[in-house]
Amino acid sequence: MKIYKFGGASVKDADGVRNISSIIQNHKGNELLIVISAMGKITNKLEELTSAYINGQEDVHQIFEEVKLYHFNLLNQLFSNHDHPIFNDIINTFVEIDWLIEEEPEDAPDYIYDQIVSIGEIVSTKIVAAYLSTLQNNIKWVDARNFIHTDNTYREGLVNWEKTEAEIQKGLAPVLKNNIVVTQGFIGSTSENFTTTLGREGSDYSAAIFSACLNAESVTIWKDVPGVLNADPKWFDVTEMIPQLSYHDAIELAYYGATVIHPKTIKPIQNKNIPLYVRSFLNPDAPGTEITDLKNHLPVPSFIFKVNQALLSIFPKDFSFIIEENLSDIFSLFHKHKVKINTMLNSAISFSISFDYDAKKLDQLMTDLSKDYKIKYNTGVELVTIRYYNQETIDRVTVNKNILLEVKSRNTCQIVMKDKKETE
Ligand code: ASP
Repeated sequence: MKIYKFGGASVKDADGVRNISSIIQNHKGNELLIVISAMGKITNKLEELTSAYINGQEDVHQIFEEVKLYHFNLLNQLFSNHDHPIFNDIINTFVEIDWLIEEEPEDAPDYIYDQIVSIGEIVSTKIVAAYLSTLQNNIKWVDARNFIHTDNTYREGLVNWEKTEAEIQKGLAPVLKNNIVVTQGFIGSTSENFTTTLGREGSDYSAAIFSACLNAESVTIWKDVPGVLNADPKWFDVTEMIPQLSYHDAIELAYYGATVIHPKTIKPIQNKNIPLYVRSFLNPDAPGTEITDLKNHLPVPSFIFKVNQALLSIFPKDFSFIIEENLSDIFSLFHKHKVKINTMLNSAISFSISFDYDAKKLDQLMTDLSKDYKIKYNTGVELVTIRYYNQETIDRVTVNKNILLEVKSRNTCQIVMKDKKETE
């Protein structure tokens, strides 16, 4: 049994769907489960729709029309027969959003978010499954919400592993014996059958959950890059493909922000020792990257950039030291405002962190912290993480930069920096 995961970029248009179908047709023999995300950038659009609805904006219907149009354009290109039942199926699926936005938004925003945004995955998988069914007859669309069970932390559902594994074993494993299953990434459901989502970019994690619960032979994440690279081509002219990677390095890279794999993906498959492949859907014959329990570490230094960071330095007002007591205060405020720390460093009288800049969070945090602490902050700074660094790699990324913070462990170096001309 193998698991394939296709993200939004692989199904952004009709050619993408046709390309997936040829990858699947080349897959011989084995049982196969296919996990698919919402098409293209539809999740962003559905997020926009959700906030327009919650804030009572007038353009809510217009945004919804754009979402529908995008899918119907794609359907028209894939199916010449416009009487195909998929057209009605998609119309009916979108009606769920119609019903919701007809009412005043009374429920909690995170709950509303999950009910609306999850529709992206439902429609994309229905379209892909219907298209694949025109080419082969063992395709089965499955609702992931019947199998992935979470608590009711909307937008970041916490998986109930025991229940999920039992349901997958009981209900899904037998279906896979005779069918290629197409299901959604990113979504699950609560014990009351309300839809939850697993956090943005969570489809990789769904693939990992299914793999672990089915004891899959392997998982393949199909991407628009040749495999795991040692840097994002957006920032580096020359990058290197890493043919083999250990689970450990993969977790570290994902944790520090390498967007190639969702950070929660690796652990469940590492626990079951399932190989993970990252391969290109644009070049499906190339081997890509293999992630296993390899003992060797990364062959080349790897770089992860995060721009648009806020750097916050916190000083106790009473000139006391930064000790466990005030640290626990400070951490509970980060937790309260859902601030995810990207770097941290403490000295005797200050504690500094960097996090993804978010005006609202920064403001709330400052209001709470400034009761007991003096704060200094910078915005618009960059964070670079170098795994397996040396002085040469540090010099390379800090040309024309002022270093505001540097944190080093044995294998990883993190630098928060700002362009020289901006700081002078
Ligand atoms: N569609 C979701 C997102 O864009 C989940 C995913 O693609 O992994 O975040």
